Amino acid sequence: MATLASARPASGLSAVPNSLPTPDGVQREAWVPILMYHHIADSPPDADPIRRDLSVSPQTFEAQLRYLVGAGYQPITLRDLIYHLALGASLPEKPVILTFDDGYEDNYTNAYPLLKKYGFVGTFFIVTEPVDRKRAGYMSWAQIEIMSTSGMEIGAHSYTHPDLRGKSVDYIIWQAVGSKEAIEARIQQHVRFFSYPSGRYDEQVVNVLHSANFWGAVTIETGTYQSSRWPFELQRIRVQGSDTLNMFASKLNLDW
Ligand SMILES: [Zn+2]
Repeated sequence: MATLASARPASGLSAVPNSLPTPDGVQREAWVPILMYHHIADSPPDADPIRRDLSVSPQTFEAQLRYLVGAGYQPITLRDLIYHLALGASLPEKPVILTFDDGYEDNYTNAYPLLKKYGFVGTFFIVTEPVDRKRAGYMSWAQIEIMSTSGMEIGAHSYTHPDLRGKSVDYIIWQAVGSKEAIEARIQQHVRFFSYPSGRYDEQVVNVLHSANFWGAVTIETGTYQSSRWPFELQRIRVQGSDTLNMFASKLNLDW
């Protein structure tokens, strides 16, 4: 096995005690692109630049899925990645993880059918307050349950999407563990992964997640290098609405 790269998360957190307990004592690493999507939809005509940037059209998304298939990528879940990092479970030669933040309804109406069409699995990070309140534009619990039943991975993305830095333990538990338990009550499965709202976190947040039986969390730091030493700082690749297929392909090949 290659020696561990010196790359470490940009946060500079000491990352103790959040490294994974590996039963054989071996720390492992892997270069796995974890793609980050938000909306899979044509942006509305009046969309501001931020919304346009967060929206990948269904046509573009399908072209990306076709590219991934043609280039030999095989979709895995975050659970697969953690089994690899903690236990040494094997990964496909070219693994890729597709994640979707915020739980927008277009994830169900647009992304989910395309994922099924191409035999892909995806990981959906749900903000639970809008679901509880049946807010327009967000998935319903019924839609989330259908996706979970069909093999999609469901993760937590907090209750109301706040900046969790500098907050009390009680507040972080309410936001992170509250959303975890709300999802678990619906899908009848453990929720093991968290996506930090707006990518913001500190050591306290990591410690709460760790003690609440999360197995890992994704950031918005750019990279494909994943390590058993930093399962709560998994790096991702942001897919932007304006990405051409060439740009998408080159993002997958990041080696840091
Ligand atoms: Zn978000």
